[in-house]
Amino acid sequence: MQGPWEERDGVLRYRTRGGVEIYRLPMRLFPELDGYVYLILTDSHRILVDAGSGLPESWEDLQRGLEIVRARYGCPVDLSSLTAIVITHGHIDHFGGLTFVRQQSPAPVFAHELDRRVLVNYPERLITAAQELRHFLSQAGVSPERQAALLNLYLSMKTMFQSTSVEGLLGDGELLFGILRVHHTPGHCPGQVCIQVDEVLLTSDHVLAHTTPHQAPERITRYTGLGHYLESLRRVAAIPGIALAFGGHEDPILDPYGRIAAIEAFHHQRLERVLEICQEPRTIVEISRALFGRQYGYGVLLALLEAGAHVEYLYDRGYLQVANLDQLEKEPEVPIRYRRL
Ligand SMILES: [Zn+2]
Ligand SMILES: [Zn+2]
Repeated sequence: MQGPWEERDGVLRYRTRGGVEIYRLPMRLFPELDGYVYLILTDSHRILVDAGSGLPESWEDLQRGLEIVRARYGCPVDLSSLTAIVITHGHIDHFGGLTFVRQQSPAPVFAHELDRRVLVNYPERLITAAQELRHFLSQAGVSPERQAALLNLYLSMKTMFQSTSVEGLLGDGELLFGILRVHHTPGHCPGQVCIQVDEVLLTSDHVLAHTTPHQAPERITRYTGLGHYLESLRRVAAIPGIALAFGGHEDPILDPYGRIAAIEAFHHQRLERVLEICQEPRTIVEISRALFGRQYGYGVLLALLEAGAHVEYLYDRGYLQVANLDQLEKEPEVPIRYRRL
């Protein structure tokens, strides 16, 4: 992809109008997921934004990226010389690599306070979220055997990350180190932040170039959910003067405001589609199947959560109602059926 940056051996460099250098380092995060960490350099600051997943491949890619910054751009930076590490949100593909990075870097770690607990006590986060997830799956109409299999898959990540400390908080509106403007954009994750450097916005997973970022119901994790997400999209759309956005995955975004409008339109279409599906009473399992067809492995969970986020949005706002209220009153464990009002 051509743009207002240079690229050497896969590492892209962009210089902002204020003279800040942003390097984008590519990495394989999971077997089927690629993404980026960013290095932000000024005369007095060397800031790493995100840390990769913690899988060995992602760690090797980070070291290779830094080697390219040194050898091909002539910038003598390594992990031991970082001045700060900023984590954009509490998802493992963005912070898991802290386990490795902190072995070489004494730099303080910054995160939004709503994601701090995830980094500081990761097993607690997974186990308590799994409980909420079990209730959700049960009410969604997933069979008990299937619930157990999906929860096992979810909890299998428990051993991937050793909890760490968070030294600093990313407050909404704050100008960190005089160069990073923090925008809190909850929705995809409670503590999701976008980081503005002059005319550039690092959008992490809040806005991506091609994919509509994944949504999950707020009933599982507070400050997520489609309502918060759409509000946060409007917040970013209202930031003036953003010329270029870099996501945590996928291509740079040359028309950030246009991309935000497209994501909003996409969700409104999907909400309409859910209402159509719910002409007849439907469980979330049935809605998920109608939206996404048959899914496998982790895809099943992602599809149910995405469907659940849209159902929750419509139900909270009175566009859907519970169709089997009498049954639900007698048997609290029965799946909920939603019907269009
Ligand atoms: Zn994420
Ligand atoms: Zn991500």
